[in-house]
Amino acid sequence: MSTVKYKIKSALHDQQLYAAIQNASNLSTAKRDDQILGLDDYESSRDAAREVRQRSVDYSPRLIEKFTREFTALGGKVYIAANASEANRITINILKSHGAEKGVKSKSMVTEEIFLGRALESAGIDAVETDLGEYIVQLAGEKPSHITAPAMHKSRQSIGRLFAEKLGIKYTDDPAELTEVARGMLRERFLNAEFGISGANFLIAETGHIAIVENEGNVRLGLSIPPVYIAVTGIEKLLEKLADLSPLVKMLAKSATGQKFSGYFHLLKPSREGEDGPEEMHVILIDNGRSRAMADPEMREMMLCIRCGACLNECPVYKTIGGHAYDSTYPGPMGSVLSNLLGRNKMLHQELPDLSTLCGACKDVCPVRIDLPKLLLELRARREKPLSHNMLASGWKWTMESSSRVEVAGKFARMVEKVVPKVMSGGVKPGGPGSFRTQVEKRKSQVESPKSKIRTDDEQ
Ligand code: SF4
Repeated sequence: MSTVKYKIKSALHDQQLYAAIQNASNLSTAKRDDQILGLDDYESSRDAAREVRQRSVDYSPRLIEKFTREFTALGGKVYIAANASEANRITINILKSHGAEKGVKSKSMVTEEIFLGRALESAGIDAVETDLGEYIVQLAGEKPSHITAPAMHKSRQSIGRLFAEKLGIKYTDDPAELTEVARGMLRERFLNAEFGISGANFLIAETGHIAIVENEGNVRLGLSIPPVYIAVTGIEKLLEKLADLSPLVKMLAKSATGQKFSGYFHLLKPSREGEDGPEEMHVILIDNGRSRAMADPEMREMMLCIRCGACLNECPVYKTIGGHAYDSTYPGPMGSVLSNLLGRNKMLHQELPDLSTLCGACKDVCPVRIDLPKLLLELRARREKPLSHNMLASGWKWTMESSSRVEVAGKFARMVEKVVPKVMSGGVKPGGPGSFRTQVEKRKSQVESPKSKIRTDDEQ
């Protein structure tokens, strides 16, 4: 049995996991729906956001060049890393050149993608995660299960047990108390940090700015206290102009966390003498398969993704098995595509495109209109087919070529329908998501009180 199949099987037997994922994703979708319903220009805003991202991909090499020039002129340093090991080596070299051994890190899916945490640990560098959700999964020795809510799979009781075991505190499952404990631990680390590492939502080629949105204020502390700051992000995050930020920021928080705007919005550039901020700023731009994906006419659309996570919250498969079952850094519908585009070899996660009902809900909620079902079908078509699949396809073609064969096949199907019990009751029903407003009402009634869950959200 493959690792993915094994993990799916275990996930399907885990009642606590199912309850945690359902509650958290239903809460996210209900909050998102509320924001979207209040937006008169939702469809045109999606068009504007897509147009900006399309330009980012179309002019990628030119934008990288321009950003490098601007950021360097401001006093920062830019590095292009072809793959994960190169990016990790560059990061470690920067830190070693400063003798830095202890620092803080803010949530970044790109650093998860390249296993930066593990590389730093092997180099004897201690980087503590400071986003609450990431702090929880780091303490548990796990990986994030969602791209914007890393500890979505955990109940507050399991977090209480984890904190009691790892931090030696008295057990509590009160979210406010647990948050206070984490805050106390992290404050100490912030004050003594020799470096700060974060991701970046966007980079502005025109001005050399780094744009980051967050909700907890941990990114702000991580980039203002330590003397060295490193932003690690993908080459597809470049935007042409400062004005391009507006349509994206407008859609990002609404789609990711159901907020009008994120709690914090940072527009950073290297500080001049006498200004506040780190003494050194570095940006590491990672390719790791992105330029190959951009050159692929069928797949380049995936590079428009702004990592909002809305497609995960909406996906009936993700909501049943959770993120870890995908056995990849990026789970859900976007992850099933992206995981097969990144890295040295293509199609490393061939099973993932099958983890979709193709209901189209992911496409419906995507703020940049990525046609995920089309991409998933394309990836299914690209992989090598097993013999049974080819035989089935040939049989189907042979039947459809003659009306009498179609008639016989229809009679046979009706006979089978009568004798086979309805095993699907209670499972995921096929078909579209139905009326939008009905869904909103249904979700609202399913959602637990927000105060009863620990969640952290930011969107890097
Ligand atoms: S594919 Fe679309 S919905 Fe999914 S994370 Fe990316 S931008 Fe968000």
